Amino acid sequence: MTAGERSAKARVAIDLGGSSVKIGVLDQDGSVLLRDEFVVTGEPADLDRAADLAGQLIKESGVPVDGAGVALPGVVDRAAGQLIRAHDKYGYLGDRDLRAWGATALGVPTMIENDARAALLGEVTYGCARGATDAVIMTLGTGIGTAALIDGTLLRGRHDHAGILGGHQTVDLSGIPCNCGNLGCSEAEASTWSLPLHLARHPQRDASALARIERPGLAVLFAAAEDDAAAADLRTRFLTVWGAALVSLCHAYDPEVVIVSGGVLRARDRVLPPLTDYVHEHLWSSAHRPELITPDRPEDSVLRGLAALAAAQTATESNPVPPTAARKR
Ligand SMILES: [Zn+2]
Repeated sequence: MTAGERSAKARVAIDLGGSSVKIGVLDQDGSVLLRDEFVVTGEPADLDRAADLAGQLIKESGVPVDGAGVALPGVVDRAAGQLIRAHDKYGYLGDRDLRAWGATALGVPTMIENDARAALLGEVTYGCARGATDAVIMTLGTGIGTAALIDGTLLRGRHDHAGILGGHQTVDLSGIPCNCGNLGCSEAEASTWSLPLHLARHPQRDASALARIERPGLAVLFAAAEDDAAAADLRTRFLTVWGAALVSLCHAYDPEVVIVSGGVLRARDRVLPPLTDYVHEHLWSSAHRPELITPDRPEDSVLRGLAALAAAQTATESNPVPPTAARKR
């Protein structure tokens, strides 16, 4: 073992997702050394189970861990360590300070972050957009998650809301009410949770194989046969909604590259080319036409971002005076 390997440190990442909790131990290069996951129950025991599994993975890895990150599916107050707007499966978190929880349960300094921001950070630090300084992510799944990086800085805003509500921009004033209180949001018009609502309204729903599936998701929609008229219509409609949402995000944040992620990208050829065409066609005439790319390992995006956050926190704590400030003295 070399001196470098002996001093190597790992980070533990916990992604409290809408349907599953993912836990990983990652090395300094953002590679996942060990991972585990379980289905969310929505009970406080989920947090205990996450801590237990993280402890087991840390022990099994044999590498000392010096920081942790926790991702949440909603708006977070990083200073208070809290989820501001409770996701229905995390209502029990209430006023709980997850930074303090991590320090006790995991035994290391713990950062928290919105899951889409963590995914973007993971991809620009270790993944498909490595080195990018201006990037936007849109994650298609149960809802639509977004985040933006401008000139190398992750956009957070004064109240931690900036960049992450791109799934809640109105794309249809005649659209359905969104669960956020707004009307015709892109995720109300085209996401897994809203798919059954749109399918139920479709005039050819009875002839659609999708209607016979208990919980049809985006991957099923994009895998459906061409002659399934309702599925074909909804695919076109969903791609248009996502395209419109991306055009607005590009107008707002002027990215060099756009990362599109989510399980639906398993049907990459049915999603990315038409989405790219829509965005490039509808952007402001002089706006940069960003490349649309997908992560190689989308299941690692959030974990990698959390590892990057934890590493940055550790670096700040071990060297609290920024180099630029030190030079001014
Ligand atoms: Zn909304």
